[in-house]
Amino acid sequence: MKLLAIPALALVAASSAGLRAQPDPNWIDHDRERPMATVIDPGTASTQDQPGRPPSDAVVLFDGKDISPWVALDGSPTKWIVHDGALECVPGSGYVRTLESFGDCQLHIEWAAPNPPHGVSQDRGNSGVFFGYDRYECQVLDSYQSKTYADGAAAAIYGQYPPLVNATRPPGQWQTYDIIWTAPRFDADGKLISKARETVIHNGVLVQNNVELTGPTGWINRIPYSAHPERLPIALQDHGHPVRYRNVWVRELGNPRHKEFMLPEALLASYAGVYGNSKGTVADVRRLPDGLLCLNYADRTLVMHADSPTHFYALSTDVQCTFDFTDKSKALRITVGEDGEGAKFERKGIPVSPTPVPPAAEAPAAAPAPAAAAPVPAPAH
Ligand code: MG
Repeated sequence: MKLLAIPALALVAASSAGLRAQPDPNWIDHDRERPMATVIDPGTASTQDQPGRPPSDAVVLFDGKDISPWVALDGSPTKWIVHDGALECVPGSGYVRTLESFGDCQLHIEWAAPNPPHGVSQDRGNSGVFFGYDRYECQVLDSYQSKTYADGAAAAIYGQYPPLVNATRPPGQWQTYDIIWTAPRFDADGKLISKARETVIHNGVLVQNNVELTGPTGWINRIPYSAHPERLPIALQDHGHPVRYRNVWVRELGNPRHKEFMLPEALLASYAGVYGNSKGTVADVRRLPDGLLCLNYADRTLVMHADSPTHFYALSTDVQCTFDFTDKSKALRITVGEDGEGAKFERKGIPVSPTPVPPAAEAPAAAPAPAAAAPVPAPAH
């Protein structure tokens, strides 16, 4: 009987374990050698009159004054304004996005719809919190005693999931979203491995419980997934209403090796070109979608990610490059696997070769994708 019982128990254990995360098998239960969690200051909660203090390990995206973490979608300075401690949408100025890119993360953001309210349904205090640049919207809308379609209400995953309850406060009052974002994953060929997931807590109330997104959100459109980098900027929507934001912070989950930024379009364009040295060696730099560069060097083609306005790195190989532009020269320095001088190249009108296609293996989380659509606000979102 005992022999028969063990497989049955194992089956039950395996079945239930499949529904939950597994403990790290590298540690035994209650292992005294296992490191304790990092100590942080959790900060404080906000009140209507006073924004709270972010956790000590958060990246602060808006502190009531500094707008520098935010740019327009193309990376140029945003026209949104800072007014009375809030980041306010200027209707018609376009979306804003973070300069820094984030993958899986916890985002805290507070918003207030215009008061007195204007308009009805989707034309009433409409904005949105987007992950994946401009792809995945959690709706911001004045849904207080105001009817609209369910999957377009405040805290809806737009067009896909209505909130579990309507926890909206009256217009003019500060409201909180605490969002847990899990980015979709794509394989080396750009095939979807796992869908995006999102949990949303609105004013302290769970309204989206780890829902699985069907793809990018859209108005009267079910958009299929297409490959994009795991880490991308977070954006806020200009839907023509002066919605305000305050106390915005993010904690990236996991342990990314480098920070990552989506630099301005104009700066990325200035880096593209062919560089050479006195030995006749060339390094070819091309643009890729989503703020990435393609470096063709030493018979390798690498996808390069920015961790500063002038420095880029590859994910798959320790190849780094630095652009050193002055009035007199445009230099590119490439290092491979070590610090030091590396190889230096100058750009001097070398003929442009055909655009190289990066091998998929070089971009496991950043497969090239079609260019993002122009930031034209749709009639609803
Ligand atoms: Mg919206």
